[in-house]
Amino acid sequence: MTKLLCVPCSIKLGETKDVKLARHHRDKITCSECGRRRYGNEYEISRKKSNKKRTTKTKTEE
Ligand SMILES: [Zn+2]
Repeated sequence: MTKLLCVPCSIKLGETKDVKLARHHRDKITCSECGRRRYGNEYEISRKKSNKKRTTKTKTEE
């Protein structure tokens, strides 16, 4: 899913979701998150890969 987001929202959304820049906009867009008209870009939003908190580092057991 692609969304038009302003920079602050793209950062905010990036904390919980996987946000990738889809298309660069030079003009102002209407942010679909905050509804404000700001400078922003089109982003591809996808679910963040369930990154496990436990980083299963392969410990070299001796
Ligand atoms: Zn916004």
